[in-house]
Amino acid sequence: MAIATGCMFLSLGLKSLAAIKLFLKTGWGLYRPLRLFVISVSLGAAPLASNAEERTFSATGFDLPLKCALGQNCWVMNYVDHDSSAVVADSACGPRSYDGHKGTDFAVRDLTAMRRGVDVRAIAAGTVRRLRNNANDHGLAFSADQVQGKECGNGIVIRHADGWESQYCHLGRGSIRVNRGDQIARGETIGQIGMSGRTAFPHVHLSLRKDGQLVDPINGQTVGQAVGKGCGLDGKTLFKDTSKIRYHRSRLYAAGFAPSVPTGSAIKTDAASPPVIARDAPAVVFWAAIFGAAKGSRLQLTIFAPDGKPFTTREIAITRNQAWRMVYIGRKRKAGRQWPSGRYRGVAKLQSASATGKTSQTQQISVDIP
Ligand SMILES: [Zn+2]
Repeated sequence: MAIATGCMFLSLGLKSLAAIKLFLKTGWGLYRPLRLFVISVSLGAAPLASNAEERTFSATGFDLPLKCALGQNCWVMNYVDHDSSAVVADSACGPRSYDGHKGTDFAVRDLTAMRRGVDVRAIAAGTVRRLRNNANDHGLAFSADQVQGKECGNGIVIRHADGWESQYCHLGRGSIRVNRGDQIARGETIGQIGMSGRTAFPHVHLSLRKDGQLVDPINGQTVGQAVGKGCGLDGKTLFKDTSKIRYHRSRLYAAGFAPSVPTGSAIKTDAASPPVIARDAPAVVFWAAIFGAAKGSRLQLTIFAPDGKPFTTREIAITRNQAWRMVYIGRKRKAGRQWPSGRYRGVAKLQSASATGKTSQTQQISVDIP
């Protein structure tokens, strides 16, 4: 079940400004202040002041749009698509995007987390230029007609210094608490994640533009330069805390037990694992969920019985790239029998191979049968 539906057309009625390329070649020259300075001198006085602020930006960077710990309670679900053709190239030239995706999607665990309230925050100080606050929130499923012309859903555009602009999409209806023209401080709460616009999973879509040109905040590169250009991790992230930003080809983000086979919608709605399963439950199921399931990786799921012996185990070969995937194993209860009491342990181990080598991620969880 892919979540390829995201937020491709982020129409808040914005017109692109003409791109003023003060930086040459790579498009992430803001990390080369000295060189920029020299270039700006040749362009005249006005860009000089602008570049001085660019240096400040490169030193301080942008905040994340959510106050969360990446990899623990929020995850990048889709990256920017750098490739201007029908081919997809995410920040690392991988497939974790979809054609024409113009932003970075920061997801939370499930709808339950979203309903508790997830604040969306300004990534830098600025002025609110546009917003929409009256688009309906839908469930996990929606029709194209529902979001036609307002794919961003409830969203905000903030203008920052130096021609930088950030756009936030898929906020909750009525959750936006700022007005057009308001001055916003860095980190200020501007709204909350919702399910408005073209979204099939609770997340905030962040688009970043510099002088009207789309920029990937993960690798600092200008987007859409040319086919095969702009992706790759040789740039630097534009976020302040670089330790928090790492590209992950695949993220095993949740695992849990269930008394029957869960649906994808159930996991997306509530990924919590129950502490107890009844002795007469129809099944004992252990599942694991992945953002960015990667072709060629392998997921091993094992349930250990209370005596420590394997209760059931399965290794699944991932044969295609998917934005989201849930995999499970389990056993059905035989008629007239009950599950043996005790603590059952589930272990999910995802092994993926990439250009940067093999990585292994593990999730463990237990459940009690009384
Ligand atoms: Zn998006």
